[in-house]
Amino acid sequence: PGLILAYLSFRTVKDERILIEKSLESRNGEFVDALQGLIDKTKIEHLKYLQEELQHASSNASVDNYLFLATGLLNNPLVQSLAIFHDEEMVFPRRLLFQDTVNSFGLTGSINSPMALSPMPQEDSIDLPLRAQEALATVQSEFRAGHYPHTIRLIRAFNHAAEGLYETRAGMLYRYGLWLLEIKCLIQMNLTEDAVIQGRELIQALLTGNGFSNYHQVRFYLSETVNLLTSLENLPREIRDYFWSIHEKSEIFLLNAEFVSQEWKSNPEILIRSQALDNNTPLQIKYLEGLPYLIIGYPWLDKETRIIARLNESVFTEAIENEILKSKKSTWKDMDFALLNLKDQILFTTDSLSDRKIAKEALLSGDLPAWKLIVFKKKDSEVIALSRRKLTLLYTLLGFSLAALLIGSFSVFQGLKNERYMVKMKTNFLSAVSHELKTPLTAIRMFAEILESGRQTQEDKRKKYAHLIGEESMRLQGMIEGILNFTRLDEKKRTLNFSAIDLADPVKEVAGLMSGAFEKAGIKLELQLEKASYINGDFDALRSVIQNLLENALKYSPTLTTVKVFIEKQGEKICLRVQDQGIGIAPSDLKHIFEKFYRAGDEMTRNTKGSGLGLAIVKQILDTHHAQIKVNSKVGEGTEMIIHFPKKEQGGENA
Ligand code: ADP
Repeated sequence: PGLILAYLSFRTVKDERILIEKSLESRNGEFVDALQGLIDKTKIEHLKYLQEELQHASSNASVDNYLFLATGLLNNPLVQSLAIFHDEEMVFPRRLLFQDTVNSFGLTGSINSPMALSPMPQEDSIDLPLRAQEALATVQSEFRAGHYPHTIRLIRAFNHAAEGLYETRAGMLYRYGLWLLEIKCLIQMNLTEDAVIQGRELIQALLTGNGFSNYHQVRFYLSETVNLLTSLENLPREIRDYFWSIHEKSEIFLLNAEFVSQEWKSNPEILIRSQALDNNTPLQIKYLEGLPYLIIGYPWLDKETRIIARLNESVFTEAIENEILKSKKSTWKDMDFALLNLKDQILFTTDSLSDRKIAKEALLSGDLPAWKLIVFKKKDSEVIALSRRKLTLLYTLLGFSLAALLIGSFSVFQGLKNERYMVKMKTNFLSAVSHELKTPLTAIRMFAEILESGRQTQEDKRKKYAHLIGEESMRLQGMIEGILNFTRLDEKKRTLNFSAIDLADPVKEVAGLMSGAFEKAGIKLELQLEKASYINGDFDALRSVIQNLLENALKYSPTLTTVKVFIEKQGEKICLRVQDQGIGIAPSDLKHIFEKFYRAGDEMTRNTKGSGLGLAIVKQILDTHHAQIKVNSKVGEGTEMIIHFPKKEQGGENA
């Protein structure tokens, strides 16, 4: 099944490129929808604010206060510039109506040609008549001399005489300059109230007068006037605030006026006339030469008043940039696209347009903005890179699953092998143990039968049989204890008592106990033990280690050989070596001899007795002592068991 799975995955992966192209295609569709959604949202939001502003203005019942209404609307990012018409005639930005000053300044008269739509005038070059030049010089020197009332009288006389001069736009600037000088005189004479009245009149004249379209000059005189008046210390607060708000609003107003006069090349009168706005459609978006305009009418304004606003489409490109291209969570970041307006002008593009294949073209629906969206195909190299990245990922995953499969089957296989091995070892063990147990039991039964039958009458013989029975049962007991011991050790039930032990002590004890057996087998036992070889250990456990090693050396050695036991100090270690000149261990058996139940060779042909537990016990005990055991052995030459214990510094505890 693993292989079938792998094959199937490879087949799927092969078609990856086609898959990627498909998914890109559907993503392009989603992108168009997302963009449309964003644009709709932005539009609805801004139009809502606009309506609120209008609502506010109409509830204020001061729609004829155009400066305030217009600046409110101009604050909306969607509105680029606007003009207000009354009875099809432009009243804003040309004409300003300050409610409280309307009548006193006689400004209600109609203005026939919307001046804002006429181009900026060339600076009229006027030759000031010599007499006028002299008069102006006198005015200035009188002012500098501090003759303020006299200066004012001179200015008024000059105004009277220079009416013809003021008709020209450039001439108007002289008038504004003198007007400012007059206000300065009034301030010097402490006639604050008069100065304020003159200031308001001057501002009014600046925003509606003949020189209006000279925006820079107007801006300059306006701020001069406002600064002069607001710097008066004894000016009432509300008057100061009034001047500041006029100053602020007129700034927006002047920008708008400048824009309208320069950018509204085609007269939007067509828009004013063609639209019959009613209650149901008080807001309409219309295109004129590819540019969007908003027409606002009744019910926010009185029936004859209409606002035409040029709309700012870059609000939408900004929204796209902020929400789609710059946003962190955006999934559209790597899209390549362009936006075109109705005149096929490029408004926005993420990439150069040359030689890009078009993946999708869509008209963004809705009246604002009326745009065409082009989504470009990914470059071939990008698609290849994408599919390569995906392929690498898939292949890696595939590789991993195959590896997991192999490792899994291998370990299952190994487990089965181990299991079989263990079963074989256990069978070996059982036959060895039953064989071992049977021998002493047979002997015991035989001697017991002889004694019971009374056939043997010789007292010393009877004694010998009884002794043999005793010996054999001791052997049995020893074997059973060995087996039990191991099981206990195996389950880690046996607790060890660690203390400082001179390793020579258990060696000498075991050697003493076994000397008879060695003698009987005709094998010489030699000890070379360094004194005071202290280790941290359990005496009984160490004794059984040494006993096992010596028993093996005895069992697997022929007569007339020597078994040597060494204890040596080696730096931080104490080394115990048991050397024999016996049959040795085959290299293939070497790595198994410490396993439980393992015995070299075959149970049927073997002629030594044992359970295969001895070295397993040794290994377990040595592990608890943090000691390492090594074997050097050559078949036919002998075996050497080498054990390294950590040395115990005397007096120090070291578990
Ligand atoms: P056994 O009861 O069979 O002696 P051990 O665990 O003590 O079990 O030893 C495992 C096997 O290692 C033995 O069956 C034997 O083949 C081999 N062996 C151990 N010590 C020696 C030695 N000194 N010389 C030769 N073979 C040895």
